[in-house]
Amino acid sequence: MVVGLLLFFYTKSRHRTNFVTSQLMNEYLRTPIEYLKGVGPTRAELLKKDLEVFTFHDLLFHFPYRHIDRSRIYTVKEIDGSQSFLQLKGTISNLRTLTSGKSQRLTAEFFDGTGVLELVWFQGLKWVRESLKPNKTYLIFGKPSEFNGSFNMVHPSLEDPEELQAKKYAHIMPLYNCSEKMKARGLDSRQLMKMMHSLLNDPRFELEENLPEDIRSRYKFPSRKEAFISIHFPADFGSLQQATQRLKFEELFFIQLRLLRYKMKRTQVVNGIRLEKIGDAFNTFYSSYLPFELTQAQKRVLKEIRGDVKRGIQMNRLVQGDVGSGKTVVALMSMLMAIDNSYQACMMAPTEILAQQHFKTIRGLLKDMPVETALLTGNTSAKERKKIHAELESGQLQILVGTHALIEDKVKFANLGLAIVDEQHRFGVEQRARLWQKNKYPPHVLVMTATPIPRTLAMTLYGDLDTSAIDELPAGRKPIQTVHRFDSSRLQMFGFIRQQIELGRQVYIVYPLIEESEKLSYKSLVEGYESICREFPAPKYAVSMVHGKLKPADKEFEMKRFVKGETQIMVATTVIEVGVNVPNASVMVIESAEKFGLSQLHQLRGRVGRGADQSYCILMSGNELSADARLRLKTMVETNDGFKIAEADLKLRGPGELEGKAQSGALDLKIASISEDAGLIELARNEAGKILNNDPNLELDVNKSLQLYFNLYQQTAKWGRIS
Ligand code: ADP
Ligand code: MG
Repeated sequence: MVVGLLLFFYTKSRHRTNFVTSQLMNEYLRTPIEYLKGVGPTRAELLKKDLEVFTFHDLLFHFPYRHIDRSRIYTVKEIDGSQSFLQLKGTISNLRTLTSGKSQRLTAEFFDGTGVLELVWFQGLKWVRESLKPNKTYLIFGKPSEFNGSFNMVHPSLEDPEELQAKKYAHIMPLYNCSEKMKARGLDSRQLMKMMHSLLNDPRFELEENLPEDIRSRYKFPSRKEAFISIHFPADFGSLQQATQRLKFEELFFIQLRLLRYKMKRTQVVNGIRLEKIGDAFNTFYSSYLPFELTQAQKRVLKEIRGDVKRGIQMNRLVQGDVGSGKTVVALMSMLMAIDNSYQACMMAPTEILAQQHFKTIRGLLKDMPVETALLTGNTSAKERKKIHAELESGQLQILVGTHALIEDKVKFANLGLAIVDEQHRFGVEQRARLWQKNKYPPHVLVMTATPIPRTLAMTLYGDLDTSAIDELPAGRKPIQTVHRFDSSRLQMFGFIRQQIELGRQVYIVYPLIEESEKLSYKSLVEGYESICREFPAPKYAVSMVHGKLKPADKEFEMKRFVKGETQIMVATTVIEVGVNVPNASVMVIESAEKFGLSQLHQLRGRVGRGADQSYCILMSGNELSADARLRLKTMVETNDGFKIAEADLKLRGPGELEGKAQSGALDLKIASISEDAGLIELARNEAGKILNNDPNLELDVNKSLQLYFNLYQQTAKWGRIS
């Protein structure tokens, strides 16, 4: 999904942007960065490489990470170690260059009438020495640190108070991120500030408004131009706050406008398949085959789906359901709706194992019902494949379950009415889009995800989909008991596993992928495996091992042994994370649990607790834990609720990492934050919705200001995606 502010998009794909950008910003802002005062070719290279700043306009979007109030001048006496950055005014004397070994440092005494502070430099000694004037009054600025019982300040920034007075940016000073390399070459936050200052103070600096007047006045937003000035050089903290709100809103607003446009287009332009009736297949299954009572949540979601598919408008719905909430049966019953209306349905899973499992589950649920089903994966034999292709094209085959193999061009449906994508986050947008093209009319699409997505994230990532949640587990499930143990309790842990195996249960032991090195990961896994085998020796016990390096066939083989109960312990990496269903497994041991992210821990834990037995999750960790790791483990021990965990995860990690690289582009927010700006996200969505309801094509005069901006934005977007 390519969402993100228009302009950010442009700056990243420069070659396509000339036409568009020329209408969106004036000549001045399109100037290559090397032409800015104080930049030049060398610095320009750095800015391009390290900050992706190519033009004046790009620099404008390099927002400060915070501001420092420089109107307050502290005294040396006031320094108590609690302040971070502060500003002092006084004179400097007693410069000394000290040498220890190969390194040199320069020290000086700063005196302001209340006390003396030592200043220290490790770099640029010569320059500092030459430029410091004794007995002159300086404003110094920096972070005091405690050293041998007294305070000093390393690399303070020095300023002439009179000169500072003359400049507007004196009081509330922006701090900018810069890379280590930039700093080493003297291109630091301060220099960036100076560049920004000359950029914004040029009479040619101009920015067109892009929000409707109505919104601006209701929220008391400053103009776009004012906002950009204030975000860098605010006159006071109030205007900083207003500028920040406006720019965040703007960013979120255009994302929502775009998503909602997609949604509207889909419902207005695209003809949907009408699945009008509920017929024999659905009814027979419901009354005679369904082995349990549906939960209220399952019923509700089925109703929502039913509501969608009978309208004649293409459904595009995301179903979120925590692990074990029973998504498969909802998927199956939706497929039966398609069948009852003489359409075909398919269900796509991200891995071979999962596809097989779905197929097996679905066959098991349908029992002897006369529904033609088939499984198509990379392993399907040529002969079988040929048969499937033919039966699909003739319309004889009603349900096809499979992996990516399902979207190959050779696979042609007679009349595909519903496509279900399971464990969505493993599929790219492109792959889903290909599904869409499998028919003359786009089939209804149901995306299912077992990783609950916090509301604000869902709104931003999947804002063009309708969403449903299966937010209830089937009755009678015993909540998984989760404990956190330190490595020192390993023997007790083994003892517990032994007991469970005596009771006939099976156990997973999962090792982390060590990011720095595949080799290390493999090593820790193999060592783990060996120690488990020593602890649980053959022939009494049998241990399986599955990891990413195994050939698919070997992986299958090992998995199958465990699924069939031939082995009691499965030692694995996270390859078993998604979807595997072995109801007899009742213990999940996660080694080095502190190395896993929250949602991953939750997914792993979801592999147990799928049967009637009490299940357990044991999080093993070392003694040294970071604050974040401690919080993750604590959250896991305290709750089984996937939505709570997802919220906590979002707060801890931020959205980018939550969804992985594939989708981080969609979350490449410059200023807004999905975890912190929930309120603004709602506002932006509401406002965008209101505008589009009144003026779907943004043709009214009042929407002029956003029209150009938005229409051009659309031109660069790829149409023909399904989410
Ligand atoms: P997930 O949402 O994780 O894909 P599944 O569809 O695999 O969950 O369902 C988990 C287990 O719960 C399966 O064994 C399934 O048969 C069972 N199940 C699903 N719905 C119900 C229900 N309403 N009552 C009892 N058991 C159910
Ligand atoms: Mg599932």
